[in-house]
Parts: sequence; C-alpha cells; structure tokens
Amino acid sequence: MIKKFFIAVLLFFIIVNSFSFKSSHHSTNKEIKQHRYSNKGLHITSKGTIKALAVFIQFLNDSTHPESSEWPINRSPVFLNTYLDSAENQFSAPWSFSDYFKKMSFDSLRIIGKSYFYITRYNEKYYRDTLRLGNSEYGEVNKEALKSLDSLIDFSLYDNWTFKSNSHIDTSDGKVDLIIFLYRNSKYPPGEAAQGIAVAGYGKDLILDKKIIKFGFPGSGITNSGGWQGMKGTLRSMKHEFGHLLFGAGHPAYFNAGSKGQILFLGIWGIMPIPGFCANAYEKERLGWIKLTDVKKNGSFNLPDFAATGTALRIPVKGRRNEVYILENHQQISIYDSEIDRDGGKGLMIYKVIGSGNHPVYHVQAADGKFDWINYWTHHPWSADSLDSLPVYTRLSSNKNGYSIRDWIPHNKPNYLNGKFQIFLMDDDGPGGKPFYVYEGWKGDGKAAFNFDGTEIFAPWTNPGTDYNSNLSIVLREQKNTSIKVECFVEEITLTENTVFPPGELEFSNNVVIPEGTTLTISEKTLLNFKNGSSLIVKGKLVDNRKFE
Ligand SMILES: [Zn+2]
Repeated sequence: MIKKFFIAVLLFFIIVNSFSFKSSHHSTNKEIKQHRYSNKGLHITSKGTIKALAVFIQFLNDSTHPESSEWPINRSPVFLNTYLDSAENQFSAPWSFSDYFKKMSFDSLRIIGKSYFYITRYNEKYYRDTLRLGNSEYGEVNKEALKSLDSLIDFSLYDNWTFKSNSHIDTSDGKVDLIIFLYRNSKYPPGEAAQGIAVAGYGKDLILDKKIIKFGFPGSGITNSGGWQGMKGTLRSMKHEFGHLLFGAGHPAYFNAGSKGQILFLGIWGIMPIPGFCANAYEKERLGWIKLTDVKKNGSFNLPDFAATGTALRIPVKGRRNEVYILENHQQISIYDSEIDRDGGKGLMIYKVIGSGNHPVYHVQAADGKFDWINYWTHHPWSADSLDSLPVYTRLSSNKNGYSIRDWIPHNKPNYLNGKFQIFLMDDDGPGGKPFYVYEGWKGDGKAAFNFDGTEIFAPWTNPGTDYNSNLSIVLREQKNTSIKVECFVEEITLTENTVFPPGELEFSNNVVIPEGTTLTISEKTLLNFKNGSSLIVKGKLVDNRKFE
C-alpha cells in the first residue's frame, strides 16, 4: 500500500516531466513519490499496477455446458488461480487477463490480484422472474456475491488509485479500483456469445470494509458471461469491456458501417474491436504504450513484428484532416496475434484511421483488393422472425472503387438493414453445394496482408490503392526472418518496377518518376490527371497506349 497522506493540507506543484509531486512552501520538505499518469486511459489508468479482484459466479443449478473442462459445473473454474497474477513479476498464464494487458502494454500495465468463486443462493430464473430483475439481475447478483465473500476479502486492499478523467494518481480515494465479474453462464450478459457490460451493475453503490464499490459507469467493475469457454473464449469480450474503462463509452466504427454497424463486428483487431485480439497501434499509442513512427519524407523503414515490438508506421493522408494510414507487420509470433485475418495470413497489415478521438473509424486495406458484389436474399437461418432476411453475397470482378470482404457492402434493398451489411452469408456456386454458407467476412479471407506471396505494392494505381490523391505509395522491399523492409514514397512517386497503369482515372498531385531501366505502360483507357503542376518524369521507358482524338 501507498503511504497515506492528506491532500487537503498540502498544495502541490506538478513538476513537469518528472512524474512527481513536490510539496509546497508551507508544508514539510519531504518529497512525496506519487505517480501521475495523465492522458493515458480515460476512466482507468493504462500504466502502473492495478490490484484487482476477480469474482467467478455460477448460478445455482446451472446445468448448461456440462462438457466444459474449463469450468465444470458446481466447481470453481480451472483458471481460478491463473486468471490474475498474484505478484507483478511472476510468469503469467497465456490468455489470462493479467497476461493479455501485460503483453499488449509491454509491461506498462500490470493487473494483478486475487480470484474468488461463488455459487448464487437461487437459480437464475428466480432473480429474473420471481424477483422481476430481468436483464438487471447481474447487478443484484454481483452485490450478493460481494456481500457473501466479504468475510474472505479485505476490500481496502483494492483501493490504491484515484481515477479521474484522463488523469490518474496512485493513491486511494475510498473507491475499489477494479472488480472483474465473470459468470459461468447467464442469459444477460448473454452467455453464449461471451458478452459483457462495462459495469458491476446499476443502482446504489455498495460499501464494504469502508470502501465504496461503485455501480454505474464508470464504476468499480465489469461483468462478463460465457466463462464456461475458459480464458481464451472470454478474452475478446473481457478486453472490450475493460476497454470501455480505458476509452470510454461508445464504440469505434468500421469504414462505411454507419451508426447501426458500430456495435456489430469490426473488420479489424484491437482492444475494442472484436474478434482480433492484438491491440492495434492507434489504441496502443493513445494509451501511451508505444510511440508511432511518423513518415513525413520518402524513406525505407524496417518493420519488425508489431505484436512483439510495437513498431508501426503512421502516414498522414495528404489534404485530409485526421486521416492516417497505419502499417503493422503481423507475423503471428504472439498468441494474441491470432484472428487478425482468417487462417493466419502473415505480413504487413495496412489500415486507415479516420478521426482522432477515443473511438475512431477503421478501414483495413485488404491486400487482395476491392470487388463488385451482388446479392440475393434468404430467410435469416437462425431468426424466429419470419420476415427477417439476410443478404447472400457473391463476389464479382475486381474494382478499385468497390468493397473488400471486410467492408460493409451495399445490397439491393436500400432501406433495409441500413442499406449495407457485413458479409455473413456467401453464395455457394460450387458443385453440389448448398445455396449459401456462413462466411463471416469481417474475419477477412486470409489474404489481407501485404507480403511476398501476394501483393507487394500499395499505390495510386493498385487495387486496393491509396486514395484521396494522397500520392502515397508503399513498396515491400525484403523480408528477413520476421522483419519486413518497406519503402514509402510520400513526396513523389518513383516506380520501383515495370508498371502498368490500369484503365480508369488516376489522379496525381505530385510528380511520378519513371527511373532508368523501368517501363511504364499506360493502358488504352487510362485517364491521367496531374494536379498542382505535377507531371510524369520519364527517365526510363514510357509505353503510352492511350488513343487521343
Ligand atoms: Zn462495448
């Protein structure tokens, strides 16, 4: 525990850059070593050590998922003592809450503590129906569990921080810092999907051992269900709910999703996005866990594995405020690098971030490109509503202005389902196949990464291509072990190999250089538009197939 002191009688000066407070003239000369972590985490600190409680709850007579070896019925989960580290410098169990945030933060954020198991007094139906608590049941049950466990827990051990908006001090404030509630299975938060909510519940706070356990948001807890699936099976929801404490209420959006899409699946990885585990570079930078490398001039950059090192590039999109491309090399070395792209495609992931707040818009630039799509409709296979229908998508030809498999794709009933949908069902035109099959497009297709087996260039004339006339081109140069060397052209574009400009309109606002020994072929139906006095500089060979009238 931190030494107690009385803030009220002291005036403090913040010593900039020293992370310490000094007492002012009229008090003692003693320097008080307090850490202040500003602007890192909105409602909870993203740095330092949080001593947390985990409470694993099973409803009385829960008989669901008897097959679960992770959490057998009427017994504590097998991960009871591995979910939270008990000390800061111990080995953390893979997929544990402690391990995930330790690895994602590169040891900046340590969540340690102790876990308890509790079986409720009544079955779930009693809370929901007899007590008429319905979907608010978990809040009351959380209170019951804490009161029952009070004889075993000294809650005063779990108040070591004062969390204030974007500014956190490691001294107690009378409120318990973090309690993680996980249900073996419950209706709400719905257990099958391992979902959760970023509160301990709503209503009155609870006071135990003279410490306030704060209900409401932001409060002292987060609640999740689906614990029968084990640590890995619940982590995607757990990280998301804890993410609400770090990033606040609301959700990031996926490109072109619109408001309805925001709470659905996202085609990118992250703490907030589901399902990919690895915190993305935008989040990590915002939480103070990494520093991004800004690319402002032409140059070569060596990108080691992102999950292992936190190295990533950020390239502003010219002429657009608050739009950047971020480049991360994902080699799937870390267990948390899984589910970045279907079937573990490895390589350079490029995505655009639009916005600068806690919940930006993401758009993955899938290396296999954008396409035209058509759809027909089928009855929603798992919906009780007979009118509920879903689009079944078919991918047509490549189109630079189309949509990638991760995007929200317009369908042919414009006023239905927000006018577009993330791919859930794909048409199966294979021999003897079903008319459609489940293919969750937001999980990618295993070809989203730029690598030497697939796409090596991201440029104005490629698909996917750099847009808004950003004049950005990125070329993969070589890969050594798990490191990828990329060359970025942000000032002028130099062709790095023989290149064909495809049909369609290409706009440039910086010079395009054809170096000696390189051939540029312009297709018959290419329309070139050079803006701001820029032009094509030919030092090599130009084959111009356009027909001018
Ligand atoms: Zn959420």
